[in-house]
Amino acid sequence: MQQLGDAATSGPVDPQVQILWDGALDIVKGELNELVFKTWFRETEPLGVVGDDIVVSVSNTWGRDWLRNRYSGMLATALTKVSGTSMGVKFVVRVAGNEPEQADLASGAAPATPSVPADVPLTEAQPSIDVRAAHASPGALNPRYTFDNFVAGDSNRLAYTCALAVAETPVFKFNPLFIYGGSGLGKTHLLQAVGIYISTYYPHLKVRYVDSQHMVDEFTESIRQKTGMDGFRRRYRENDVLLVDDIQSLIGKEKTQDEFFRTFKFLYDGNKPIILTSDRPPHELETLQDRLITRFNHGMIADISPPELETRVAILKRKVESESGLPVPNEVLTLIAERASANVRELEGALIRVKAFATLTPSKVITLDLAKDVLKGMFPERATRPISVQTIQHEVCKFYGLSMADLISNKRSQNIVYPRQIAMYLVRELTDLSLPRIGAEFGGRDHTTVIHAFAKIQKLLGSEREVFNQIQKLTNQIKQKS
Ligand code: ADP
Ligand code: MG
Repeated sequence: MQQLGDAATSGPVDPQVQILWDGALDIVKGELNELVFKTWFRETEPLGVVGDDIVVSVSNTWGRDWLRNRYSGMLATALTKVSGTSMGVKFVVRVAGNEPEQADLASGAAPATPSVPADVPLTEAQPSIDVRAAHASPGALNPRYTFDNFVAGDSNRLAYTCALAVAETPVFKFNPLFIYGGSGLGKTHLLQAVGIYISTYYPHLKVRYVDSQHMVDEFTESIRQKTGMDGFRRRYRENDVLLVDDIQSLIGKEKTQDEFFRTFKFLYDGNKPIILTSDRPPHELETLQDRLITRFNHGMIADISPPELETRVAILKRKVESESGLPVPNEVLTLIAERASANVRELEGALIRVKAFATLTPSKVITLDLAKDVLKGMFPERATRPISVQTIQHEVCKFYGLSMADLISNKRSQNIVYPRQIAMYLVRELTDLSLPRIGAEFGGRDHTTVIHAFAKIQKLLGSEREVFNQIQKLTNQIKQKS
């Protein structure tokens, strides 16, 4: 095969090199979302081979860094498969005239300060975005909510594809993107995935994720403080991408809606992408101002419905693969997916419990019978009405002999902290309240306290049988009351 450094720096590429690269791309294509594949690989061109590496040119530095960081391993595996010998890949940026710099080719390394060619397909956004020194901070983003951890299926594919498209090229596309669907179906996950993606790969862009209820609270607070409104406006308007979760929380909040409308218009006019989520479609946001609804309708609307069995199984598989712990047989995954059909949050809760229970048994093996037992406790007679946070708090208080005042108080004695954490765990699992909202329902606590409580109880579930039993009993009682 032709080695770079001979004749390969000018003229057409050796057909063998092209065949090798095409073969590798074929393999990679099968492993990636079509949109992702096209975005990143469409413009790659093999140049030749240096040592054990194929050298591939891309049109800009973003693409080079992205490909290098994310796909080098996958490509090396594919190249090794196609060529039959161990191979890797090096990326270089094409310079004007389509030829990589001579020095880069000789060493097979990327140029230290690559120039960006005039034709920059992946960064259409660049000219309109002012590069800030301040980097976007993921802030309240849950690091688990990435695109990688999101399973796309028929029920959510449109929303997934649109969200990924905005994340990949965060410029005015379809603005706004409005994602709606029932609770526990992945809206927050997708929205945060966009936030994480942009702050990781476009760190010069400022992206803000906000829960609408939090926006209402911030707005109220800024009215209270006389000079607060400037700060409020700045926090919302200085963003390159704004992600607003659960917009239905603005219903009935006229003043916040007014201010939000102005923010929306400001960003929209500046071609800054806005993504919104809601538990219902725009036309059902009855008392939201018409001018807002009209704006929403002008963008792209994508719904998410409950996942079909196949997607539920795929979600469980993805979760099992990404977590440590006992192996879960496929038949158990299918059983869980059959029983927990309402939404993904419930699905995840069921998996956690089955795994937790098995770790408490002497054999530590997850069997179908064991899973059936656990699930019977979790899904007694199906609750038909949504479970309220008050029902959960009430049942937890009754169970542990506490008063409601104590449960939501600041007291930090163990006999109150533990039931409070149990209650937070159950609210997270059984309702659709956001983390900040759950914190608010427990005496105005921070969302990180809720995350901590959830993690702690999840851990205890798998190590203390008593905790497991209490959770099962409480779930049963709560569901009977609903
Ligand atoms: P929503 O905001 O629609 O109420 P969330 O985004 O909070 O729902 O999702 C609930 C849980 O289900 C989260 O833990 C999320 O990671 C998970 N989830 C939802 N949809 C998917 C999916 N398609 N793939 C993987 N996990 C998912
Ligand atoms: Mg949500």
